[in-house]
Amino acid sequence: LPFSDPDVGDAWCERQLLLRTLQIDEGVWNAVIADYERVLPPLSQGSPSQRLEGLREAFARRVSHGAWPANVASGQGCPVCGGAELEPVVAKRPGPSVWARCAKCAHGTLVNAGEDATRAYTSGQYYAVRDATGVGYDDYGNEAAYREEKGRRLLERVIGVAGAPPSRLLEVGSGYGYTRAAAKRSGLETAGVDLNPHAAAEAQRKYGFETFTGSLEQALENPGSGIESGHWDLVLYQFVLEHIADLARELRSAREALHPGGWLSFLVPSFEAVELDVFGGSYRSLRADHLHLFSASSVRQVLERTGFVARLIETGCNLHLLRGFLSAEELRSLYAAGRGPDLLVVAERVS
Ligand SMILES: [Zn+2]
Repeated sequence: LPFSDPDVGDAWCERQLLLRTLQIDEGVWNAVIADYERVLPPLSQGSPSQRLEGLREAFARRVSHGAWPANVASGQGCPVCGGAELEPVVAKRPGPSVWARCAKCAHGTLVNAGEDATRAYTSGQYYAVRDATGVGYDDYGNEAAYREEKGRRLLERVIGVAGAPPSRLLEVGSGYGYTRAAAKRSGLETAGVDLNPHAAAEAQRKYGFETFTGSLEQALENPGSGIESGHWDLVLYQFVLEHIADLARELRSAREALHPGGWLSFLVPSFEAVELDVFGGSYRSLRADHLHLFSASSVRQVLERTGFVARLIETGCNLHLLRGFLSAEELRSLYAAGRGPDLLVVAERVS
């Protein structure tokens, strides 16, 4: 399974990581818990939805992201289905950045994106410092073991769905090459594409991997890139598509890279997660450079428009922020119902 079992405690579920993920300090969290315990029955009583509602109330009392400007979404349509009704539903400070939900397909769109959202991806700082708006990583360079193992489990899951194991993996947004390293160990040929020259240099230094610096579209147009059209068995995106404005254009490039019957897989943040209801503007996937948050329906639509058919859409996560409030069994059924924060998609190229 790509997502760790809620029963298994590991270092990644520690309190400090919870605080970092919610971008709050310890005092605030202690106050939330004190409020929660004052008004709520213990975990063994109260239904799961009562407990989540209690946490939502307690959290909202201590952490506020405020309102959003009127008409912030006016004149914008859904980038996935073209639906005309986008309703702003959540804001995150600083900014505030505001996300709206499409009435037709439930896709989440950042309706007031900054002009320079993509500039950060070309700097080395992107992998060392997560800024106040949530852009970047805290300590990506020191997470090799964790990220290689995560990559290994992800590939195992994807291959399980695809049936025949792929032999040629192309990863878009391949970073330092952690998942490529896991794939190579399983005997796959790999290639990587990344906008960030610093990532390419690190992948070379750590693993001796060549990485094309630029977009997939640029790689396919460049005869010297080593990224040939129609060559790949599997094209993989891990938390990349939410950063790309024109999703359909990107997935058409992915389709071009694949041979007929090849596979596409991606991990993206969900806009249907129960954590979004509970933590509001502090939901882990609200970052100033996340232009999209997906629904199962918006995933199906964008795949259909670009020549793919979904074979798996499931939710999960690696860090269970709700573990103290729901039992492992309750958490599992929540994810099974499609309410986890991370959406894993495996799709087949329609020839
Ligand atoms: Zn839509």
